[in-house]
Amino acid sequence: MTRLSGYLLPTERQPPADAEAVSHKLMVRAGLIRQMGAGMWTWLPAGWRVHARVVQIAREEIDAIGGQEMLMPVLQPAEPWRKTGRLDIEALFKLTDRKGSELVLAMTHEEAVTFHAAQLIRSYRDLPKILYHFQVKERDEPRPRAGVLRTREFIMKDSYTFDRDQAGLEERYQLHVGAYDRIMERTGLRFYRVQSDVGMMGGLGAHEYMAPCAAGEDQIALAGDYAANLEVARADPRVRESGGVHTIDGHELSIEPAIEVGNIFMLGTRYSEPLGARYLDEHGDEQLVWMGSYGLGPARVVAAAVEQFSDEHGISWPKALAPFAVHLVVIGGEGSPERIAAERLYDALLAGAIEVLYDDREAHPGEKFADAELLGCPLRVTVGRRALESGEAEVQLRRGRKQAPGLPLDGEPEALARAVHELWQSVP
Ligand code: ATP
Ligand code: MG
Repeated sequence: MTRLSGYLLPTERQPPADAEAVSHKLMVRAGLIRQMGAGMWTWLPAGWRVHARVVQIAREEIDAIGGQEMLMPVLQPAEPWRKTGRLDIEALFKLTDRKGSELVLAMTHEEAVTFHAAQLIRSYRDLPKILYHFQVKERDEPRPRAGVLRTREFIMKDSYTFDRDQAGLEERYQLHVGAYDRIMERTGLRFYRVQSDVGMMGGLGAHEYMAPCAAGEDQIALAGDYAANLEVARADPRVRESGGVHTIDGHELSIEPAIEVGNIFMLGTRYSEPLGARYLDEHGDEQLVWMGSYGLGPARVVAAAVEQFSDEHGISWPKALAPFAVHLVVIGGEGSPERIAAERLYDALLAGAIEVLYDDREAHPGEKFADAELLGCPLRVTVGRRALESGEAEVQLRRGRKQAPGLPLDGEPEALARAVHELWQSVP
């Protein structure tokens, strides 16, 4: 039941004064997010629906490779972080409780999950395992920026794998590559999986999932099938430079800005060693557990979608992420025949389990259309005088602003819902 007259969707004509990134401007203007402080953002109802879509896609794909969803705390004792040598990281928020105990706000969950693994994994029979959660991360980022692209508090999907040996880890890693490829394909984003720098996590191998867009802080180097983080490409002996042109195996490299939306790592025993995560093998000998770590930022997926698919009128969601399938607009006041027809259509869509936002406000048509284009639901259905005359509600596809076949207003509710389902299938 979503009537715009009662829904919290505070659209704005002007972007925030400090906004540069398209996603920052449009997500605020469309009423999806609001800022509370530097790098601190609230997801408003329509924005949260989009975030939840990404979460659900990630959940389904990690479940499909055998992941087990759980939840670990954000507030943690400092001790495991001291053991792994990460207590001194500047971005880690530290605090003390009333008794003087040292605590941290987790910026990631390797320490927590390995702490548990050390207690709960005993024998080779307990392995392999894939554990994951969606949880808040806190990071004292030096430069929070661009709306929800880089915030000090954000939700991450982080999975962790536990294996008997390196071969097992490589298997679990490949499962994640497959799951991440499918997650990204399902979101509808343009993306590249690139080799990345192993960096501060330490480990054996890593990939980043990059969504190309203007607001991206990373640079990716592309040539044919080759895709790598620019830093990695720079260090690649196959990359040649002559006259400012870079090539790899004879192909010219192009450089594109991109947002990192996901990052996967083979950790090996980097965390199991300091935290004592060991198991007994078939011969009764103690072995270290081999681990992997796999992060994904739903907020960045949302912002990247806005970056990649917007025009001068606003957002144009990929189907899988749209807050609503249909934005239903009525042009006609309380009690008018247009209203009666629109209410009937609204009820039919709800009965057909179609997610619809119904603009039933007493507002100027221009304002309603502008808000619909700003919010970017894939289908806009309009019931005004023209619809009553022709007997068909007008349908417009947001992507490309193309006219689609109309919806007969005199049909049975089931037929109407079926027609909308068919329309939905035809949305690219
Ligand atoms: P970056 O290199 O952009 O700082 P990171 O390498 O520190 O990110 P990870 O620790 O690998 O990121 O986190 C996994 C995922 O969490 C990232 O791929 C990204 O989607 C998301 N993420 C990381 N930092 C932030 C942040 N400050 N705001 C929003 N999302 C974030
Ligand atoms: Mg990174």
